[in-house]
Amino acid sequence: MSLKLHALAFLKEKRVNYYIIDDVIFFSCFHCGFKIEMNAGTTEWSCDCGNKGNLGSLIKFEKNKIELLSDLAFINPKKEKYEINYLLNKLNNKNQVDSKDLKLIQDKFNKLCKELGI
Ligand SMILES: [Zn+2]
Repeated sequence: MSLKLHALAFLKEKRVNYYIIDDVIFFSCFHCGFKIEMNAGTTEWSCDCGNKGNLGSLIKFEKNKIELLSDLAFINPKKEKYEINYLLNKLNNKNQVDSKDLKLIQDKFNKLCKELGI
């Protein structure tokens, strides 16, 4: 199994929110909760909080702490895009516009834009 698959299996097993674009895995730093990038080929990562390591250092991290930090709000742009499209399709199939759905779409869109820095 490649390091990339080991890393993804580990994050899934620990129920850590993540997403992957090309060969970069995004998830929250186990130490501070801010978003970090892991090189999927080498599993190396570093964070602005000063911590860095690889998959091995994450595996050694205390299990309880991983569960605690994985509950932090983590914005997954792919998930946000999916949910916005789902809501837009739902609106397309209705005869009248539901203002609650429109508000949800607006919130998700703004969250996505903030995450992307636009
Ligand atoms: Zn950090």
